[in-house]
Amino acid sequence: MSGWRPLKVGVIGGGIGGMSAALALRRAGHDVTIYEKSDFAGEVGASVSCAANGTRWLHEWGVDVAKGDPVVLKKLINRDWKTGEPVSVYDLEDYEKRWGYVYNMFHRQYMHAMLKDSAMGEGDGIPAKLVVNHRVRASGNNRPDHLLIVQQCRDIDLNTNTITFDNGVTAQHDLVVGADGIGSAVRGILGIKPEKKPSDSSCLHANVDTDEAVKLGLVDYSQDSALEYWGGQEGKWDKIVLSPCNGGKLLSYYCFFPREQGDYATQAWGAEGRPVEELLKPYPNLDPQVLKHLSIGKEIQPWRLWVHEPYPYIHKGNVCLLGDAGHPMMPHQSQGACMAIEDAAALGILFNKKYFNGDVAQSLAVYEEVRLPRATRVQAAAAKAAYNINERIGFSVNKDTATYKVEDPKKILTIEEMNAYDMYGDVEEKLAAKRGDRYTGKFICGLPIGLELPSGITIGASA
Ligand SMILES: Cc1cc2nc3c(=O)[nH]c(=O)nc-3n(C[C@H](O)[C@H](O)[C@H](O)COP(=O)(O)OP(=O)(O)OC[C@H]3O[C@@H](n4cnc5c(N)ncnc54)[C@H](O)[C@@H]3O)c2cc1C
Repeated sequence: MSGWRPLKVGVIGGGIGGMSAALALRRAGHDVTIYEKSDFAGEVGASVSCAANGTRWLHEWGVDVAKGDPVVLKKLINRDWKTGEPVSVYDLEDYEKRWGYVYNMFHRQYMHAMLKDSAMGEGDGIPAKLVVNHRVRASGNNRPDHLLIVQQCRDIDLNTNTITFDNGVTAQHDLVVGADGIGSAVRGILGIKPEKKPSDSSCLHANVDTDEAVKLGLVDYSQDSALEYWGGQEGKWDKIVLSPCNGGKLLSYYCFFPREQGDYATQAWGAEGRPVEELLKPYPNLDPQVLKHLSIGKEIQPWRLWVHEPYPYIHKGNVCLLGDAGHPMMPHQSQGACMAIEDAAALGILFNKKYFNGDVAQSLAVYEEVRLPRATRVQAAAAKAAYNINERIGFSVNKDTATYKVEDPKKILTIEEMNAYDMYGDVEEKLAAKRGDRYTGKFICGLPIGLELPSGITIGASA
C-alpha cells in the first residue's frame, strides 16, 4: 500500500507482550527499541498457557518453539476435590488436527527467553534493541487531575511521543506501545482510570519438582500432559490448577481459596516466598495425593488478583496499550499471554506493507476496534470461570457432566470461537469500514460466516 514508511517504535515493557510486539513489528519492517524497568534478574516463574490461538503466531513469526521446552497438552481434566476422580475431561488429542497448532504449556522464563531471542536475534527486519533499567514514571497515577496533566507531560508527551524515563533519559518515537503489564504506567498517562476491585478469591502459586515427587513415591502427574483442576465447581472459590512445564520436569500449581482465608491482594509477585503451612491451611479436605505434592511445594508466591472492568479505549494518538496493560484478566481461562500475543500480531498486521498507509493514529484506532472486543469477551469469561469451572473454554461444552451448569448457554466461550478466529479477516473488515471501502470478505469480526458455534449461534445468521 502506498504511504508505508518504516517507523521508530518504542515498546515500554519487555515482558511476554512487549517481546511479541517487538518481534511482530520488526518483521513488519520497523525499527524497535524495548524499554524495560527491570534487568530480568531473580525472577520466580510459573507456567504460562499458550493455546493454538497464541501458538499460531509463534509459528508465523518463525519462533523456535522448542527453545521454550513446552509440554504439549493432551487433555484438560477436572477432578473431584476429595477423591481426585475425574469429573469432566476435555480431550485435546485431535486439537492440532482441528486447529493446525498445538496447545503449549511453557515456563514463563523459558517462554520469555524464546521470544527475546526471536525479537533481538537474526531474522526478518532489523533486530529489536533492548534497554533495561528504564522505567516510565507511574507517579502521576495517584495525583489530582490538575497535577496529573503536568506529570503526563514529563512521562510521555502525547503531542510529540517523547518518553521521559525515571533516570532522566528521553526518547522520541513514531509509535509507542505500552506493554508495561497489569500495573501499567502508560495506561494512566493515557488518562484511563481502572475500575477494579480485589477478587473474592486469593491465589498462592507453588512449584513442585517432578523428580522429587516421584522419588517420594507420589503420583507422577507429568505423565498426563494435562492441565488438571481439582474443584472449582459452581459458586466455589476453592480450586487447584496444575500445569506441567519444562518438558514435564516442573509442576506449576495455582492454588485458589476464598479471600477471607488469606488476603494477598496488595502483595507483589517476586516478594519473599510464603511458608508451606500457609499453602496447605485452606485445604483440609483436599485429595491427599495432590495435597502431598503441595507439601513439597517451593517458591510459594502470592498471585495478586484484581477484577478490572473493560477500559473504554486502549489508544490515544500514536500511543497504544497491549497485553495486561490494556485488558488485565483473571487467570481462569489461561488466555492472558495469548491475548498479549494476539495484540502483538494485530500490530504486526496493521503496520505491515499491505495495510499501513502512513497514518499511525488511524491504524491504532483499528487496532483498538479489533482487539478490545475480543479481549473483553475473554476477560469477562475469565471472571466467570473464577467461580464456575464449567465456564472454562473446553469444559464449557462438556454438557453431559453431572455437575454441568453455566450462566447462559448462548454466551459460553468455546475453543471454536478462540481458534476459528481469523485476524486478517477482522483487520480487513475494520480497516475497510474506517477507510470507507466496501468489505467483501467472508468474516464477521474475524469469525467465518456460517460457522456454527457449540452455543447454538451461527455466525452471520439473524438472531
Ligand atoms: C516477573 C513476572 C512473572 C510472571 N510470571 C507469570 C507466571 O509464572 N505465570 C503466568 O501465567 N503469568 C505470569 N506473569 C504474567 C504474564 O506474563 C502476563 O499476564 C502475560 O504474559 C501478559 O503479558 P504482558 O507483556 O502484558 O505483561 P508482563 O509479562 O507482565 O510484562 C510487563 C513488563 O513490563 C515491565 N514494566 C512494568 N512497568 C514498567 C514501567 N513503568 N516501565 C518500563 N517497564 C515496565 C515489567 O517489568 C514486565 O517485564 C508474570 C509477569 C511478570 C512481570
